[in-house]
Amino acid sequence: MALDPKRTINELKELRELTSDENGAQRVAWTDTWLNARSWFAEKIRVLPVEHHLDAAGNRWVTLPGNSERALLLGGHLDSVPNGGWLDGSLGALTSLEILRRFAEEYRGNPPVTVRMVDWADEEGARFGRSLLGSSAFAGTHSIAADRVRKDKDGIAMEDALRRCGVEIDRFPEAGQERKHASAYLELHIEQGPVLERMELPLAVVLGTKGVERHTVTFYGEEAHSGSTPMNVRRDALAAAAKLALEIRSIAGKHADAVCTMGSVKTFPGIVTAVVGRCETTLDQRDLDPGVLATMYQEAQEVSRRFAAEEKCTVEWSRIWNIEPVPFHPALIEMCQQAVRETARQAPLLPSGPLHDAAEVARAGIPTVMMFVQSLRGISHNKVEDTSEEHLELAVTALDRLAQKTVSWMEGQAR
Ligand SMILES: [Zn+2]
Repeated sequence: MALDPKRTINELKELRELTSDENGAQRVAWTDTWLNARSWFAEKIRVLPVEHHLDAAGNRWVTLPGNSERALLLGGHLDSVPNGGWLDGSLGALTSLEILRRFAEEYRGNPPVTVRMVDWADEEGARFGRSLLGSSAFAGTHSIAADRVRKDKDGIAMEDALRRCGVEIDRFPEAGQERKHASAYLELHIEQGPVLERMELPLAVVLGTKGVERHTVTFYGEEAHSGSTPMNVRRDALAAAAKLALEIRSIAGKHADAVCTMGSVKTFPGIVTAVVGRCETTLDQRDLDPGVLATMYQEAQEVSRRFAAEEKCTVEWSRIWNIEPVPFHPALIEMCQQAVRETARQAPLLPSGPLHDAAEVARAGIPTVMMFVQSLRGISHNKVEDTSEEHLELAVTALDRLAQKTVSWMEGQAR
């Protein structure tokens, strides 16, 4: 039984059949549909010579013991957003399963190193607004106090929803035990953006996940009557904000993969007969290079003050959230390039704009890399999310090649 990428595609379709309705995938973590998906998955592994269990945060670990305790980890997540797609997360989980099968067969259940796969619990944070929940417990970056009190839209507390699925939030730190012997982590994911399709290439090597600076930027001017206030004496907060909204395009444009987004603009009093006295905006800036991110942040602050002055306004910044860029491991990036080249000839290097569980694993100090496969029309978190079957097969094959190279690399390190 060699690697069978077609089986992975069939299993993805089976899962879609089981857990989707006319609006798309409904595998939201800590719901019955998600539990069904997980039971379906548990059936799949029952025939393999593996040990499996749920850790203290609800991550499912499937272990094929090898001659060495040093472990290669492969991962994905079966949970989805509401009305989600058939590939986000599940492609990684089911590809990991197929590679585990291949190792079990090829080495008659006894590979040179231990091979483990993980189905992360609640990557999406769709119900409680807390992404990367299971992987953060694994990495030790969880935030129990803040998470415990989170509620879903029906007022159900996160702590209670988790308990219903057999997970006690206070025991989260115990999930860190799974880090023992972890020597490398690989994750295949759909790109969820349009870059590979525009390049007309199936696969990419992911360099890391971008850091994020996320701020509220508020401009203060003066409310005034829109009929009686001459143009030259106005202190129009929206005018200053509008200049910033345009300027962030050139701030990001100086760097290859940087992005800046003004996603929300609120005006006060927000009526047709008044000059805007206060304008609240949000700014999200991302890049893989911490230096670029810091420069963009500083530049945006400087120009916001200049535009405020030009419009006789003032400006205030307050941070909503930020995270450092998480670069992946150089040796694994190199091997991933080889694996992608051998499978699809060209191996472009891309940063990831979205965060992934892989970022938490890398933050825990475990050598990590991700591979992306092309997303048709760049659409994800939507029922129309899709990737051609030809590309899915290439992706499974390439990740398997990478897994084999990584095992050799781990053996070399042990010597
Ligand atoms: Zn995902």
